Amino acid sequence: MAKVTVDASVCVGCGLCEQLCAEVFKVSSEGVAQVVGSDCSQHNLSDIAQQCPVNAIKVE
Ligand code: SF4
Repeated sequence: MAKVTVDASVCVGCGLCEQLCAEVFKVSSEGVAQVVGSDCSQHNLSDIAQQCPVNAIKVE
């Protein structure tokens, strides 16, 4: 299973990752994305990580 992390010091809270997969990402009230699930049945998490504008998402 993929290990997904968001670097909170880099994330700008744009919400793109949550839009792409709300099963795994949720932008908190502080405006930082949090990882709320470890895998997504419908999306490729590496693709989502590549779309983050500030490269805050890491998938191992
Ligand atoms: S796409 Fe990147 S910058 Fe935007 S909310 Fe998600 S982790 Fe943060």
